[in-house]
Amino acid sequence: MNTNDDEFALAPGVMPTPTLPSISTLTRPFWDAAAEGCYILPRCNACGRHFFRPEVACPHCFATDWAWVPASGHGTLYSYSIVHRGPNHDRGVRGHRFAAVVRCRNRVRYS
Ligand SMILES: [Zn+2]
Repeated sequence: MNTNDDEFALAPGVMPTPTLPSISTLTRPFWDAAAEGCYILPRCNACGRHFFRPEVACPHCFATDWAWVPASGHGTLYSYSIVHRGPNHDRGVRGHRFAAVVRCRNRVRYS
């Protein structure tokens, strides 16, 4: 067994540099809340249903009257993965990455 870390090093240009999601006027409140440690969802004022991702109109009834509300904080974890060494580890980006599929009590599924 080869324990040399270079065995798993990527050649330059093989892996694209991860990009951050684009932040628009529509999504800005979500990212601002996330930076504060809060998880918010769009909730339609016409039909009362939550949805995600934010859209101009509710995907359930097409009403354009909706607002950001705090998520319940409860849900079901279906699956998760922890990446201990990310693609930018050799560039000095350390830390673990978590990916999960969660169905929130608000009936919105994140992945
Ligand atoms: Zn609706």
